[in-house]
Amino acid sequence: MIAMRILRVLLLPLVFVLSIALGAQTRTVALTFDDLPLASAGSEGITPAERIAEARSVNHAILAALKRHHAPAIAFVNEGKVVADDATEEYRKILSPWIEKGNQLGNHTFSHPDLNKISSAEFEEDVLKGEASIQPLMAAAGSPLRYLRFPFNHTGENTEKQHAVADFLKQRGYEVATCTIDNSDWVFAQAYRAILRKNDTRAAQELRSAYLAYTEKEIEYYSKLHRQVLGHEIPHVMLLHASRLNADTMDEILKLFERMSYRFVTLTQAQSDPAYRTPITFATTAGPMWGYRWAKELNIAVDGKLEPEVPAWIEHYGH
Ligand SMILES: [Zn+2]
Repeated sequence: MIAMRILRVLLLPLVFVLSIALGAQTRTVALTFDDLPLASAGSEGITPAERIAEARSVNHAILAALKRHHAPAIAFVNEGKVVADDATEEYRKILSPWIEKGNQLGNHTFSHPDLNKISSAEFEEDVLKGEASIQPLMAAAGSPLRYLRFPFNHTGENTEKQHAVADFLKQRGYEVATCTIDNSDWVFAQAYRAILRKNDTRAAQELRSAYLAYTEKEIEYYSKLHRQVLGHEIPHVMLLHASRLNADTMDEILKLFERMSYRFVTLTQAQSDPAYRTPITFATTAGPMWGYRWAKELNIAVDGKLEPEVPAWIEHYGH
């Protein structure tokens, strides 16, 4: 028996090393998409009919890629966009496949307000207004509406406001959707739209390559941040937006995660990790990823300046 136990102890690290060598998916990530039906990045100035068609095409492409990679995801909706363009039924039809395919919808408020600039009561009203389409859609699928993502990840710039909103959300049955990796996709998406408008296919290709390279750097950066702050990696929550850029690159983004040994899990699975129960007590006007928030709570000094920058030509494109 003892020999067996010793053998097992000796074999375990070997199994671990082998599983990495064989490309086993040892890391996990939950995918989240914001600003549905369509992120506004760079789509200003198009007609309502064009916007509806674009929303349909973008959502369809993202969902198809998710399906090909067996990746569950949650989409956060701004009801204000659903009731815009005199096309509420059209937009609801665009949102409903998110539920049919085993994914889910979450609340991203009605008008995407900045909590730093309004009262908690005004914010709460916006949250309630944000439920109009997603609540019945989720109910029809037999699921409760569970998650709220704060616009800009602004969770309250002072403790009083932060607590007031947190209490309200809890009472209403919400859990806060965190996020631990962002790749500034909205910055790339804005430049991408400007490039597409000029029909510059070469620049579009260059941007997509730069976007994937930057995404890889950010995944590694935030994994390293967690190792520094928490002592190990935890399930990630990836923040993305419903944009043309992500529609055109979703297959590549998902392949990138797979190549980096990630397996796709739901937001609920990711946030069931104990790290997500670390209480957040400090208030901030900024909307940092949760790794930075945990660092602050656990009193661990981290240097945000080490985070890779978006390439300057993309940052300044069209400005
Ligand atoms: Zn948003």
